Amino acid sequence: MSATTPLPNATILGYPRLGRRRELKRAIESYWKGSTSEGELLETARELRAATRSRLVELGLPAAGGAVPESFSFYDQVLDATLALGAIPGRFADVAAREGASDLDVYFALARGDKDHQPLEMTKWFDTNYHYSVPEIDERTPFAANAASLVAGVAEAAQQGVEPRPVLVGPVTYLLLAKASDDAGEGFRPIDRLDEAVAVYAELLSALAAAGASWVQLDEPALVSDSLSVPREQTLALVERAYGALGAAPAAQRPQILLTAPYGDSSGALLRLGALPVEAVQADLVRGTLPIEAHDSGELARAFEGTQLVAGVVDGRNIWRTDLRQSFGTAEALQRSGIAVVVGTSNNLQHVPHDVNDETKLDERLKSWLAFADQKVEQVAILARGLSEGSAAIEAELAEVDRVLADRASAPGVRVDGVRDRVSAVGEADRSRASEGDRRDAQSALGIPSLATTTIGSFPQTTEIRKARAAFTRGEIDQEAYDGFLREEIERVIRLQEQIGLDVLVHGEAERNDMVQYFAELLDGFAVTEHGWVQSYGTRATRPSILWGDVSRPAPMTVAWSAYAQSLTDRLVKGMLTGPVTILAWSFVRDDQPLADTANQVALALRDEIDDLVEAGIKIVQVDEPALRELLPLDADRQPAYLDWSVGSFRLATSGAAAEVQIHTHLCYSEFGEIIDAVDGLDADVTSIEAARSRMDVVEPLGDHGYSRGIGPGVYDIHSPRVPSVEEQTELIRIAASRIPGEQLWVNPDCGLKTRGYGETVESLTNLVRAAQAVREGA
Ligand code: GLN
Ligand code: ZN
Repeated sequence: MSATTPLPNATILGYPRLGRRRELKRAIESYWKGSTSEGELLETARELRAATRSRLVELGLPAAGGAVPESFSFYDQVLDATLALGAIPGRFADVAAREGASDLDVYFALARGDKDHQPLEMTKWFDTNYHYSVPEIDERTPFAANAASLVAGVAEAAQQGVEPRPVLVGPVTYLLLAKASDDAGEGFRPIDRLDEAVAVYAELLSALAAAGASWVQLDEPALVSDSLSVPREQTLALVERAYGALGAAPAAQRPQILLTAPYGDSSGALLRLGALPVEAVQADLVRGTLPIEAHDSGELARAFEGTQLVAGVVDGRNIWRTDLRQSFGTAEALQRSGIAVVVGTSNNLQHVPHDVNDETKLDERLKSWLAFADQKVEQVAILARGLSEGSAAIEAELAEVDRVLADRASAPGVRVDGVRDRVSAVGEADRSRASEGDRRDAQSALGIPSLATTTIGSFPQTTEIRKARAAFTRGEIDQEAYDGFLREEIERVIRLQEQIGLDVLVHGEAERNDMVQYFAELLDGFAVTEHGWVQSYGTRATRPSILWGDVSRPAPMTVAWSAYAQSLTDRLVKGMLTGPVTILAWSFVRDDQPLADTANQVALALRDEIDDLVEAGIKIVQVDEPALRELLPLDADRQPAYLDWSVGSFRLATSGAAAEVQIHTHLCYSEFGEIIDAVDGLDADVTSIEAARSRMDVVEPLGDHGYSRGIGPGVYDIHSPRVPSVEEQTELIRIAASRIPGEQLWVNPDCGLKTRGYGETVESLTNLVRAAQAVREGA
């Protein structure tokens, strides 16, 4: 193994980690429960890593030369970097110092917390629905290289005859994603410690070189984001500083470095990245482009002299079969310009499921259009063969894909005239409601008190509910029995809310497994998978639906449940829908038309649903959009267009509602800064948001912004079983009332209650109602 072997011309940036049947999830959860030992867990993980390497080689990645990424993780890749850097936050020092604490004990303590420690915060990784554990850094956080698991992976692979490429989040991205710990001094920023972190990365690289690794992959997606604490130009300068230093180490003291820039457009940085003292640079050419002029003029090739370019031409975010002819054209043009091209994916395949061939119930025709992780690896291998042997060698494969894409374009359901005609007839008037004043007047008839109390929609999803749903899915109970069960559940939840004394009730969402799949199963244009699991965080995975065709609503979806709930009570019951942006964000969406067009189709289906809800006597409808922030493009240039269509689709969904219908929305998060205009632009009558943990921080900017409609900042943190007292919730309501006029305020929890138990839910909501009462009475 020489230190200067080039990367073979096929690679991927990473592979799903939970296992084809989520074996790792089960192994970890059983270890947490104490049913299995650490040794057993380590063994399962080892087997899984071995299976992944063999599979990748079988699918066409060369075993030699560093083409196979070593991207396993027990929980999260950012947490892996925290451990590799030894950056254990001070508040966990006691855990690390505990007698006999293994690396894994410390790792899971950071991830999940324990009775004495809050876990690390989790937040979304770039514009994906994957969550990472946020590092906490201050001036004194220790940095000390811990290469043990990286080195072990290399040794394991070598035994298997595979020469792997360890993968690690790079130092700049790591520190830009970190937050200053509570102990940090005023003005301290984690990125201030870049040089120290780089020194530790250099030690890690040297340990990897000693273990025989010829390549290492360092991921720097910070390069493509305008949403971080430093401007993008400065991120690039930091990357130059870090990799200038890492690259300067003598060849024997480090593996060759592949620096990646996934998740977006790095075209503005590529010339400078090519000039760095690293051996390969990856660019996402699905979300991003090449610097066209520099490509045409040969300047790009000059910058990449001596540096391989991993062309991320296979989409790692989506599940559609790649247009191979087009991808091949891009890769071949780069190769012709004199660049040493490696075919790659746009990003780590952790965001797509394993294998289309595991799906036994999907329509065969739809299946032929799809590519999950394994198919993506095959596509990479085909393109690489074309680069080595010439396009004639892969013409049969290219022609096959041409055929499949043509079939997809012309298949029934992909384009439905009725749906398209309706979308094209949409005008500005369809996106606006009566004036705010008229709505307020019309809605005063609802008789809603000030500081009205309500919840976000879901009540606890008990074992009983999950069992009934599973029995129904397996055909053990029939539709009638299942519906009867759900009606009883609704009645129970309505009576409970009446007893607690809430003002606006919900039906509890017992019929929903999750907020998107329920609708996907009832709308035309969607398909659901059996095994299409994608890691959301830690051992949690979601199964996104596939939005493949024009979307329409064959029949009402929620009306029966909401109407039944309303029939049981004199109090107002809110209808409960998921908004168009969130439905798109948490599905795999067709890539053959702009997202805006697809969003409008979903919006029209929801608009009809709202009509039907109102017809059935529902007077308040909530349309949840927790993903509005998540889909915000990383690239600032693309944000205005996104905000325009996303807000427009919400308005299209809700603007059919007459003035007297009260429209609510719910946004989970509280990081509003960037999108405050958009939140206002939704024009909802009432917006509920997460606010308890930040102690109402978010209310102030809304107040300053002149936000004039209803706001329900959460007063009850639903993320833990802890019961907030009356006093605590009273105080939060008072803080909110000091920042925004009381008549605009609603009182509600931070989010839905589906992950909570009934005991704590009833106590907490009872306290919430008392707190609202106390503030109303000025007590
Ligand atoms: N209505 C949904 C619920 O209560 C909202 C969930 C969410 O915001 N993620 O569960
Ligand atoms: Zn929420």
